[in-house]
Amino acid sequence: MPKVIHCKRVVPDSGCAHSVRGATEEELLRNAEEHAREHGIVEITPELVEQLKSFIEEE
Ligand SMILES: [Zn+2]
Repeated sequence: MPKVIHCKRVVPDSGCAHSVRGATEEELLRNAEEHAREHGIVEITPELVEQLKSFIEEE
């Protein structure tokens, strides 16, 4: 089942309508890291990864 993180749920103030998807959690987190760079986040810390994991939803 594809997994998804809705950007605006992670950063409600961003107004970002982007959703990051991945077939696996690993792929999803990789895509999320890429998308985070578009928001100027260059360093993906383990804490941030843990935070992102809590926003993962199944599609
Ligand atoms: Zn975004």
